[in-house]
Amino acid sequence: MCGKGLAADLMFSESCKVYNLHNWRTIPQIKNLSAEDIESVETAARVFPFKVNAYVSEHLIDWANGAEDPLFRMLFPHRDMLCEDDFAALKELIRRGSDSEIANKVLEIRRRLNPNPADQLSNVPLFRGKTLTGIQHKYRETVLIFPTEGQSCFAWCTFCFRWPQFCRTDVMRFSGSSGEDVCAYLQEHKEVSDVLLSGGDPLTMAPERLSRYLQALLSPGLEHVRNIRVGSKALSWYPQLILQESFVPVLRAFEGISAAGRSITFAANLCHPRELQNADFQNALRRVQRSGAVVRAQGPLLRGVNDSAEALAELWREEVRWGIVPYYLFAARDTGARTAFQLPLLRAWEIYRSAYASVSGLCRSARGPVMSCTPGKVQILGPGSFNGSKALSLIFLQCRRPELVGRPFFAEYDERALWWDQLRPLTEADREFFC
Ligand code: SF4
Repeated sequence: MCGKGLAADLMFSESCKVYNLHNWRTIPQIKNLSAEDIESVETAARVFPFKVNAYVSEHLIDWANGAEDPLFRMLFPHRDMLCEDDFAALKELIRRGSDSEIANKVLEIRRRLNPNPADQLSNVPLFRGKTLTGIQHKYRETVLIFPTEGQSCFAWCTFCFRWPQFCRTDVMRFSGSSGEDVCAYLQEHKEVSDVLLSGGDPLTMAPERLSRYLQALLSPGLEHVRNIRVGSKALSWYPQLILQESFVPVLRAFEGISAAGRSITFAANLCHPRELQNADFQNALRRVQRSGAVVRAQGPLLRGVNDSAEALAELWREEVRWGIVPYYLFAARDTGARTAFQLPLLRAWEIYRSAYASVSGLCRSARGPVMSCTPGKVQILGPGSFNGSKALSLIFLQCRRPELVGRPFFAEYDERALWWDQLRPLTEADREFFC
């Protein structure tokens, strides 16, 4: 666990027991795991952030499935997250090496896991001579804000592309700009219509503090900020927070945003239908919805978790039944535990299409599979042929260069490609999309 967000972790642990590498063997259900599973967790957890809580352990994981349970794979580090050689070398060092040898190996592995995917550092703006590390401004109309106090989570997801934020690594963390700097930046950028509070999980902030942050976005001079989003996994990982009386200030701030004629979106990270099948989730969701927030769902397609048309279709059906709008289905990113979770893009598309074909129109608001990569958000439309050549059809849903958005283009057909940088333009005309 990193220093940032420590206060939130302490506050959280008072109301819900938290487990990490040092105490996780006290989780009662661990008896369902083999000695090999335990070694797998304790080796991978040296490299990746590891924190679960009593709620997810008791209510979301089906321990009868052991380490193969999809929710277990989303929450507990496991050996597939490292390549075989790294896993074997680290395991050996843990058995026989010194602390410094282990630490050096962990750092070396982390540096090879692409800790800065999609060149996120290039999205950090320079403003009045200062680098605003608490902001990312990649797309013209949308700004991401990373409040310092919201850089923790209720449990660390094994698939998280922001994993370096939560480790003691030497990569830069996104957080730290003052509220004044954020407001001043937004005042000078009238093209920004959408602001997304991101993290970590902004709901780990003290509710009063988060409420003030949201209210500040309604300040004079920020009338162009019409849509405010809060990205969170609290509905799944700690819904009791939203049910507590202390959370009321945040709900009041949501109401205030609607009353001011702006929209408030609760962007819930959801991957598996089981996350929605819990009474606490459903009650917390109702509370958020009653505050006027629209709840949209997004999450990645993950091998061994939700990589079947049945699982995806059921996820979208459950979302729609509970009044949640399916939004993005992301391709697992080229960072961190990619060896565990990535699927070939064509396979991801096949699963998406098959799920899409089996649900009603209300569920088909889910857009995917989408790569959130360096140039923008690229949706894979599927295979086809162009001038007699097999091709992969793609489209930018978002792009650093707005003139490329919404125009279909083609890549060479490649059944093994896992990510954007492995795709090649099909024709000369497609080259401009790859620059
Ligand atoms: S809640 Fe979000 S930011 Fe936190 S670990 Fe999970 S995916 Fe990452």
